[in-house]
Amino acid sequence: MRLVLVGPPGAGKGTQAKNLSAALAVPHISTGDLFRAHISEQTPLGLEVQEYLDAGELVPDEVTNKMVRERLAEPDAANGFLLDGFPRNVAQADVLGALLASEGHELDAVLEFRIDEEIVVERLLARGRADDKEDVIRHRQQVYRTETAPLLEYYSRIVVTIDAVGDVTEISERALAALRGEK
Ligand code: AMP
Repeated sequence: MRLVLVGPPGAGKGTQAKNLSAALAVPHISTGDLFRAHISEQTPLGLEVQEYLDAGELVPDEVTNKMVRERLAEPDAANGFLLDGFPRNVAQADVLGALLASEGHELDAVLEFRIDEEIVVERLLARGRADDKEDVIRHRQQVYRTETAPLLEYYSRIVVTIDAVGDVTEISERALAALRGEK
């Protein structure tokens, strides 16, 4: 299965991605995690992207797309993947679509995590990651609304929406049922 997760920062995508990747037997590919690994190892890419993560800005598309292209070329992603945090705008979605089409593939579904912005802001304030300062959190929500939320329209044909409020296990079950086409 080739799956993309979309939802505001703090919706629990990362946690759900881990559960869903195990249940669906596909690798979990998180661009945020990949960037953070580069930053902690102080690679050239890490040094280049750090300021964007600190500010809650999107890393430029050329940089992000190249990293994703390389990751998707690894053998474990050949038969499916679960993308968490990519694409984050329509230009990235176009690149992903072209990349998959060039191999005769396409996305199977886009899973939308629906949750109120105030709930996620509260959660993120409690989480305490380096980019979880309130002004940066608010900015990331704004970037989600303006850059990423339009993907729901872009992918409307394949979007599956679930309520992302509740118990972690329950939400995973909800997601798997929704992907199987149950409502
Ligand atoms: P996340 O862990 O998905 O919340 O991502 C953390 C940060 O990494 C974001 O605020 C961006 O700075 C950067 N980032 C992650 N994914 C992308 C992407 N697809 N495009 C651009 N920047 C990204």
